[in-house]
Amino acid sequence: MNEARTTTGNLDAAIKAMEAAIGADNVLTTRDQMADHGDPYAPPGEWYEPGAVLMPGSVEEVQAIVRLANEHGTPLWTSSQGRNKGYGGGAPRITGSFTVSLRRMNRVLEVDEDNCMALVEPGVRFFDLYEHLRAIGSELWMSCPDLSGGSVIGNALEHGVGYTPIGDHFGNHCGMEVVLPDGDILRTGMGGMSNPHNWLVYPHSAGPSWDGIFTQSNYGIVTKMGVALMHPPEVYAPGWFMLDNEENYGAFLEVLRPLMIDGTISNQPMIINAVCAASAFGERRQWYTGTDSLPEEVIDAIAAEPGFGRWVMRFAVQGDAPVVAHNRAKIERAFATIPGASVVFEEYDGRNLPRMENPHHNVQAGVPSMALDQMTKWYGGEEGGHIGFSCAMPISGKDGTAIRDLARKVLNERNLDYSAAIIVGKRSMIHVALIVFDTKNEAQTREAYAATKAMLEPAARLGYGEYRSHLDFMDEVAALYDFNDNAQRRFAEKIKDCLDPNGILSPGKQGIWPANMR
Ligand code: ADP
Repeated sequence: MNEARTTTGNLDAAIKAMEAAIGADNVLTTRDQMADHGDPYAPPGEWYEPGAVLMPGSVEEVQAIVRLANEHGTPLWTSSQGRNKGYGGGAPRITGSFTVSLRRMNRVLEVDEDNCMALVEPGVRFFDLYEHLRAIGSELWMSCPDLSGGSVIGNALEHGVGYTPIGDHFGNHCGMEVVLPDGDILRTGMGGMSNPHNWLVYPHSAGPSWDGIFTQSNYGIVTKMGVALMHPPEVYAPGWFMLDNEENYGAFLEVLRPLMIDGTISNQPMIINAVCAASAFGERRQWYTGTDSLPEEVIDAIAAEPGFGRWVMRFAVQGDAPVVAHNRAKIERAFATIPGASVVFEEYDGRNLPRMENPHHNVQAGVPSMALDQMTKWYGGEEGGHIGFSCAMPISGKDGTAIRDLARKVLNERNLDYSAAIIVGKRSMIHVALIVFDTKNEAQTREAYAATKAMLEPAARLGYGEYRSHLDFMDEVAALYDFNDNAQRRFAEKIKDCLDPNGILSPGKQGIWPANMR
């Protein structure tokens, strides 16, 4: 792990000031109280831990916290729910920082049925938004990730994804309210006007668009955001593509690309390999009890299970009945050209969805679930953990096989299984190597972190950058964006120094450090 940096300054005085500002009950200071706000999978010992967790209940309290942090020189770390567990959860990069947990700010402030938008606070989880829509009698669909216990805003700010046609969560937001590092408030887009007619439909204003700088950054605390919803489709047709061999994996990606670019497949599909598929259904020991990585013949045995395959893709077609029928036929024709491939569909009335047992069918209809948490239990028991090694690249056979070969080699050399979940967008895919480990096994846990780090440089040499990263690798990942002497980081530092001269907001987030810590 990285050098342990800890905060300086008088923590006791800062805690007292925070208690006076937001109420002592909303300042958590004991290890027990803070346990649910750290990195749930970190190995024991020198790791990143908050000095206190602050739970503001309003925008004004967030402003008060930021101002007090400036006065006391205590770094803050923003967390909406702190459930992005594969990337560090709610833990701060600097041990002793105050985690600002926005869980109490959990209101859905508005649902605009006409324009299919909602305005939410950062503590709103995907489950909360879903329940709110049903409670007010709205039939609109939303988008959610496979593990829906996280925050709608937190996920979008990290460039997280879901699996309906509005699954690019940041791409489908409109309008943000942000508390800046000096306590000032900014609203983006048409929210720049004091009386916008509706700031949730047009994302820009006259002048620069600022929203992007508040994603994966440490320039502000987002306190409101507009998120897109969609009309329920007349027909919802979730599909499964299965490939029984490894040899045609590249060919499959070549066939897939135009279907994504021209919108024939209308949602964000996910491709998983046999290991990942097996982990969604059960434990490793049912297949193999060795301590090395799964041998090829075991992977073949998994792939031979009905419904599995060497590669499986879940995807969906949504729309009016004739459009769905046309697109289904087009998809079936395209995939029929690939040796060893098969496709099956189911169809539902999107406006009157039945209760669906299959969690994959639910998530692609924007129905929240936690079912895939099962994947972390691969080594048995409840104490499984995972890290994501997540690179963005074109949807192509050349790129898909290159990253597969790299990740598989590095992981297998370290006796870890290569479990892949690839999230497909319109022109790009994010290859996530899901590195699963048993958190009770310290050696394996440390190996998982080391293996992830070991993949960064070789991937960068092939031109693949991570789209998001675990707390422990943020510096390394930022360093690999090295065009023109790391122009992106130098630009980020200039903005940091200007907005946050005392360096109090999330120092080290994505490798962006304030001047006094560089
Ligand atoms: P989730 O629970 O949705 O998975 P988190 O709350 O863990 O997401 O947030 C993930 C990361 O996103 C945080 O570490 C933080 O850097 C950033 N983040 C989350 N919420 C906010 C926010 N309201 N404002 C600014 N950054 C945020």
